[in-house]
Order: sequence, then C-alpha cells, then structure tokens
Amino acid sequence: MEMVIECKNVNFHYEGNVVLENINFVVEKGDFVGLVGPNGSGKSTLLKIILGLLKPDSGQVKLFNQPISSFKERYKIGYVSQKANSFNSGFPATVYEVVSMGLYGKLGLFTKLSRADKEKIFDAIEQVGLSEFTQRNIGQLSGGQQQRSFIARALVSDPSLLILDEPTVGVDTESVERFYELLGKLHQEQNMTLLMVTHDIGMMTDHVTKVAYLNKKIHFHGSSRDFGASQKNIYGSHMHPVEQKD
Ligand code: ADP
Repeated sequence: MEMVIECKNVNFHYEGNVVLENINFVVEKGDFVGLVGPNGSGKSTLLKIILGLLKPDSGQVKLFNQPISSFKERYKIGYVSQKANSFNSGFPATVYEVVSMGLYGKLGLFTKLSRADKEKIFDAIEQVGLSEFTQRNIGQLSGGQQQRSFIARALVSDPSLLILDEPTVGVDTESVERFYELLGKLHQEQNMTLLMVTHDIGMMTDHVTKVAYLNKKIHFHGSSRDFGASQKNIYGSHMHPVEQKD
C-alpha cells in the first residue's frame, strides 16, 4: 500500500503541556480521512507537524515515503487553512489573484505566468464552480465561496494530497453540502488523497472513507462505518478508547 503520510511515535509539547503522545498515524494513497476530536485535542498541531511547520519532540514523519526533512515536492500538497473564509469586503485581491498564488509555490514568486499556467488558474476556478466570480474581490464573496476559492488555490498546483483544517466552520449548511460534493469529486474522479480536520462529525462520516479520533493520542483509526459503531464508546459518559492497532 502506498503511504502518503506516516507519523511514527510522534510526541509534541508546548511549554510543559503535552499535546501529542506517541502518535502513530498513516494516510494511504486514495484515503479520505476525517481527523476529529474535541477542541484543544491537538488536531491543528498534528497538521502543522505534517506540513513541516512544527518539529516534533521525537518520532518520525514521512511524506510520500520520504523523511519530511528531505521532502522537496511541496507542490504535491495542497493546504486550506482554518479561517480561509473570513476576508472582509475590502480585502484587495480578486479570486483570480488568490488562486494564482497557488502556482507560485511551484514556480517561484517572480515567475511570469505562461498561457498554460493561466489556463490552469481558470480551470481550477471552474472546478470549484466560481467562474462567474473570477475577477470579483474575494472579500465580496460569501464564506462558502471564499472557502472554495482557497480550494482552487490549493488545486492549481495539481496536488496529490489535499489537507484541510476545519473547512466548514462559519459556512452555511447548503454550502457545506456543496463543499462535500466537491471533495467527493476530487477524491473519486481525481483519486486525490484527502485529510480533513473537522468538528462536523455528523455530515463528515457520510463522506470520508476513514476516521481518526485524536485526543492527545489516537483513540480510533478505522473505517467511517466502524467509527459510527464505536462513537458511543468514544463520546459516551465512560471513555473506552479503542486500542490503536500497530
Ligand atoms: P485542536 O486543533 O484540536 O483544537 P490544537 O492543536 O490547536 O488543538 O491545540 C492543542 C493544545 O495545544 C491546546 O491545549 C492549545 O491550547 C495548545 N496550543 C496550541 N497552540 C499553542 C501555542 N502556540 N502555544 C502554546 N500552546 C498552544
């Protein structure tokens, strides 16, 4: 099985506060993983470690089978951060400009975009259903539309892994449904691997293939169907953490 993300025995603390304890977590090619857990359980911290923004105290992280320290193909990873949907109306960038930023990571900041690059930008905008807003300032769009602009920005460099941090916060229900439809398409039609942090357990389990439940440790990692069955244990009045398989 092809591994896209591998965390082995990862530990992390902030100033005496242990946040991640002995994390063993893998994402395989073609997975759509929902990473869930209560507030403050370490989800964003784990994503930052996977993205190389934080260094673990101990343990190993591999991306596409390479140790993270020597991993150079950043463009393979698209990242949509938290709050990518709360720009105010005066924010001075159009959808086109925001999406084009996704190419500079691959090409370098001062590269002149070729016609083919511009086509890629228009394609990514079309893919997320925002063609009619291409030249609109991003701050004038709804939260859901801003969110989709940032997905287009992540898609424009043709990533094979898309990482999303709480993408549905502040987005209305209809847009959330549309958003899951889009992720489902990327997953099924383009065979993209997805890792999404979310608090939205209800809707998420219908769409993802696997769920990981994190609360300092990984308490569950398995199919979304098995997660449904084990939710009572995880959320019930008595915690019965499911033992993690090695
Ligand atoms: P989640 O994403 O699951 O809500 P986080 O990874 O953001 O959780 O946070 C995990 C824990 O680490 C929380 O207790 C949080 O307060 C703490 N934390 C997060 N960022 C920092 C930081 N920069 N400095 C100190 N503590 C932090």
